Amino acid sequence: MNKNITPPSPYILKAHVTHLHESLRHFFQPELKGYLEETYGETTMYLCPLCLKSVLLIANGNLYATGQFSEDHYPPESVGGCQTVLVCKACNDKAGHEYEYILKEELNSRSYNKGISNAKLKVRAQIKGVQTAPLKMKFFKEEENVILFDFGNNVKNPKIARWLESIENNGESFEVTVTVSGNNQDLIARSLLKAAYLYCFGLWGYEFCFSENGDKIRQVLAGSLKYPFSNGCLYWEEENLERLPHGVCYISSPADYRGYVVNVPMLLEETGYKCIVGIPIPNPAGSGWSDLEALAQRVLHSDQEITINPIPHYNIRELITGYSSIWALIEKGVPVIVPR
Ligand SMILES: [Zn+2]
Repeated sequence: MNKNITPPSPYILKAHVTHLHESLRHFFQPELKGYLEETYGETTMYLCPLCLKSVLLIANGNLYATGQFSEDHYPPESVGGCQTVLVCKACNDKAGHEYEYILKEELNSRSYNKGISNAKLKVRAQIKGVQTAPLKMKFFKEEENVILFDFGNNVKNPKIARWLESIENNGESFEVTVTVSGNNQDLIARSLLKAAYLYCFGLWGYEFCFSENGDKIRQVLAGSLKYPFSNGCLYWEEENLERLPHGVCYISSPADYRGYVVNVPMLLEETGYKCIVGIPIPNPAGSGWSDLEALAQRVLHSDQEITINPIPHYNIRELITGYSSIWALIEKGVPVIVPR
């Protein structure tokens, strides 16, 4: 355990460490808790919600940690995320490099498909008569029926430079084959699920992380399990955008759709594109994961109207088992009331 770490701000410590301490004490493995208290005395502890391995603790006014912790935005800042949570730096970096970068590309593609004029779409292009490997470039619509190519670094390729010069001088027409491959759906699902998981952690604390479903979701984030809603679930782009609640919510009707859903708002500043993505989260019953698989099938084959209600924030010390006890109310179809 290292004492030489950059301490998070007092505000962050209060919002995360102090706020979630009771939750962690309740669900932490007793042996580890015993060991830490024997070594450090009375402690306030925090565990990285993404790996459940990196520990930060405060004992006798000193801060100890297994490594650096930093604030993570969920969803990423590049898509308008403004919620933050304290996670270990290793988890933060890994998610950013492995999959979270895809969300910005996905919002760019969606902006393009909506006809937003400055949205650039990534493509591979092959120019007829010019012998090169397929060129990675972007194209965008400037106005209706006019598509502009952004050649990027390809202009440094001598073959391309010669070709550009010749069409500029001779005004020749040319033929380009363009391939739009679309973004990797699996990476999109993992990015959205990570945001949803952190929203759930913020509301329910460690009960959710230490649950069987919490463990399964971490397996999905690690790329070793597939999420039933593999294409990122429910997208809302225009209608009702202002009226939809954000964060952890539940579907109250139809009755056979009842379950948790996390509404993640996203915005691509460059194009002004906005959406809310609903990510269904398994319920805490033993059948939670298979219920989610069944729901994915139902949602896929129907366009039924669904009703989504928000779950208000509450003091976790007043309701340490929110994930399971709130579900007991939703399942019965009774209104969700949480301690104020
Ligand atoms: Zn971690």
